[in-house]
Amino acid sequence: MTRVLFDRRAGFCAGVKKAIRGARDEAGKRSNVVSYGELIHNPRVIKSLAEEGIRVKYNLEEIAGHEIVIVRAHGIPPHEEEWLKKNQREYLDLTCRRVKEIHRTIIRHREAGYFIVIVGNPDHPEVRGHLGYAGESARVIDSVKNAHEFSASFKNPKTRLLVLAQTTISPELYDRVVAVLKEQQLQISSINTLCPFVLKRQDWLRRFSLLADASIIIGGRNSSNTGKLFDIAAKNGPVFWLTGAQELEAELILQYPLVALTAGASTPVEELTEVADILAAHGALIEPA
Ligand code: SF4
Repeated sequence: MTRVLFDRRAGFCAGVKKAIRGARDEAGKRSNVVSYGELIHNPRVIKSLAEEGIRVKYNLEEIAGHEIVIVRAHGIPPHEEEWLKKNQREYLDLTCRRVKEIHRTIIRHREAGYFIVIVGNPDHPEVRGHLGYAGESARVIDSVKNAHEFSASFKNPKTRLLVLAQTTISPELYDRVVAVLKEQQLQISSINTLCPFVLKRQDWLRRFSLLADASIIIGGRNSSNTGKLFDIAAKNGPVFWLTGAQELEAELILQYPLVALTAGASTPVEELTEVADILAAHGALIEPA
């Protein structure tokens, strides 16, 4: 019989919970609520929010004067907030408090003359927000190779560097980039801004995917933290990345004696329960872990 280790702490992170609650409260009071970008990386939740009247707008220019704009947990760069103010758009800022704290750290260090380095994905909305605060000279590093290239080309040995992380990247990448910059004798201050919530989930998966014969990760294809979970589990065996229970092939999973089951930070716990229920209906034993 297949045993499924169900991550009992899975579900939305605090930042996502706050954003969804805030957007729903607003939509309960008025009809013209739009989110600037998808509120979270989960197609099913986006669909259900749309049914509640929360539409997604991908460009600021598309937002009409009578609409109220939700700023999602990833935050936005300051020039976009300025645009909203200048164009008299009403907005509800639901940026995660951890992301806000990074913005404040960047502002403080930039004013003190630091050169800002962000370890993360340059195309991720959270990183675009950080870059807006860090200024044009700031640099995003997304790989160890990139860290070597940057340190070889950085010509201001007296300039102090502040090295921060996108909240959802892997701690290994952050540590390795910091190590490369230190090897080059650059003057760096590193502040580990990885989200503890994400780290705990990564730790859970590191531990249980090692024990298990296969892992199931649930989350949107465009979710950065789900992608990291996939990478962690892939080091320890076969992984099935599902966007929801509709993609589950139970017979495939049931060939493994022990399976680890978790999800990204923007996946509601109900989606895990649905997958677990299907597997249980096929005879698997579900064990909270
Ligand atoms: S993953 Fe962490 S930093 Fe990102 S929104 Fe959730 S709580 Fe905030």
